Amino acid sequence: EKKHLSDIEIAQAAEIRHIDTVAEKLGLSAEKLEHYGKYKAKLPLSLLNEEKIAQGNLVLVSAMTPTPAGEGKTTTSIGLTEGLNKIGKQTTVVLREPSLGPVFGMKGGAAGGGYSQVIPMEDINLHFTGDFSAIEKANNLLSALIDNNIQSKTNNLNIDPRTIVWKRVMDMNDRALRQITIGLGGTANGIPREDGFNITPASEVMAILCMAENFSDLKERLGNIFIGYTFDKEPVFAKDLKAENAMAILLKDAIKPNMVQTLEGNPAIIHGGPFANIAQGTNTVLATKMGLSLSDYVVTEAGFGADLGAEKFLNIKCVSSGLKPKAVVLVATIRALRHHGGAKADEYNTASVARVEEGFKNLAKHIENIQKFNLNPVVAINAFPSDTEDEVKLIQQKCAEMNVDAVVAKGWAQGGEGMTDLAKAVVTAVEAHTDDFKPLYDWKAPIREKIETIAREIYGADVVDFSKKAKLQMNRMEKLCLHEMPICMAKTQKSLSDNELRYGRPENFDVSVREFEYASGAGFVIPILGQMMRMPGLPAKPASEGMAIDDNGVISGLS
Ligand code: ADP
Ligand code: MG
Repeated sequence: EKKHLSDIEIAQAAEIRHIDTVAEKLGLSAEKLEHYGKYKAKLPLSLLNEEKIAQGNLVLVSAMTPTPAGEGKTTTSIGLTEGLNKIGKQTTVVLREPSLGPVFGMKGGAAGGGYSQVIPMEDINLHFTGDFSAIEKANNLLSALIDNNIQSKTNNLNIDPRTIVWKRVMDMNDRALRQITIGLGGTANGIPREDGFNITPASEVMAILCMAENFSDLKERLGNIFIGYTFDKEPVFAKDLKAENAMAILLKDAIKPNMVQTLEGNPAIIHGGPFANIAQGTNTVLATKMGLSLSDYVVTEAGFGADLGAEKFLNIKCVSSGLKPKAVVLVATIRALRHHGGAKADEYNTASVARVEEGFKNLAKHIENIQKFNLNPVVAINAFPSDTEDEVKLIQQKCAEMNVDAVVAKGWAQGGEGMTDLAKAVVTAVEAHTDDFKPLYDWKAPIREKIETIAREIYGADVVDFSKKAKLQMNRMEKLCLHEMPICMAKTQKSLSDNELRYGRPENFDVSVREFEYASGAGFVIPILGQMMRMPGLPAKPASEGMAIDDNGVISGLS
């Protein structure tokens, strides 16, 4: 085992290669790259290769229901990529870009951990190549166009300001901007109305960029953004403001995937970062396709547990883009299994075979769920120091009873060296995979039926309750051309149910759809099953207080 250092210390101590050297591993010559300094590059869309995409070995990393600390999907995705490269499989990891705001709050960065990280981690966690800024500008251009239209006498669409659902965005945790009043100060300064800010990953422009296949698809989706209603109750879309071309212009570089490297110098593509509750929670379609175009294996991650991340990845992203994963890795930790077996937060590090056995019911449900898509998962037991051999053996035995491999993954402590067993198990799963994965529902089915399918099959719910408001909204969806869209569930990640206090494998429960939101541009309907946070705040003692930059520009305290 290597010496224990913080993530940023490990990242800064790593030998970082010029991005041209990383590209060489993919047979890409330097002039094909669009360089952003020495260690970052954008990949032009001309590098996409349909034939390679169709043949590629796509591996999705998802997880059991996590504890608040996260069970290590990003870390495992990066470590698995190192492991696959070590056993001779040319592999690229394709991930979401972290949001900047939360870095200064509680969460810290999201570029992996320990000896499984992507670098330069400071850049990836902060401004990176400016994609988030471009998304923010495109989003806020639409806001400015809306308020300008309401103000204008000659070019007025008759928008009822009280119905506008389009919000401004900024990539900062700033709760004071959640609800604001704009347009104050007299006739020259706009029409007063209520507005608010969301954090940039919650922007529908982010979700759209992550679904888009090319510029024309991007423009069509941007034009289809639903803004609100006129005083005559007719829906208004971004295309009614002729906004889509100008918004797409602002995204001209943001649409191109970004290449960086892992700690061991393997290729990493980091592109797009939508929320995992009100959006699809996974990197851009173009980044996944770019990875497949350039390498034999792609390892990618979807946010939250498999009930959300994998379900949306498979039913939304894969069906929309034609992507077909050949293997799924479910990350489990013994601490999460203890949690689902009844351990309190201060008992997560206390060994208990009995609790792990009880908690296995949660993992078993996720395994069954993945099998419903005609994919047999591999379980990665992300290793922690408090794990015991008896607990590990029990998981392996219970997985074997379900015809599933469970492999101990030591990427955090050891990098690729600790991940070759998992890599071999993943290759076996990919090679054993013959039939295509099948989605769980038909996009053309009625909205209610699609929601009931997800709730029953994936969550294990008995009945779905729809509030009066939700029922009214369902009736309106045809008019908004939303009825044939897939479902993007907004539910807590802390439970398979919609009640975050119910751990393990909840049974005999109903879920409630309170209301709907529409992402008519991104192309999905969002049933809201709980309170959804779109603009986080900072904690009383934010992480920013522990950060520093020295006279040489070296950053410390960024976790
Ligand atoms: P996820 O992608 O599932 O949210 P991450 O990979 O970002 O999870 O990991 C969450 C946190 O846990 C990170 O700070 C990471 O460094 C840490 N972590 C992950 N795996 C391990 C491990 N095996 N041992 C110790 N810390 C870990
Ligand atoms: Mg992650």
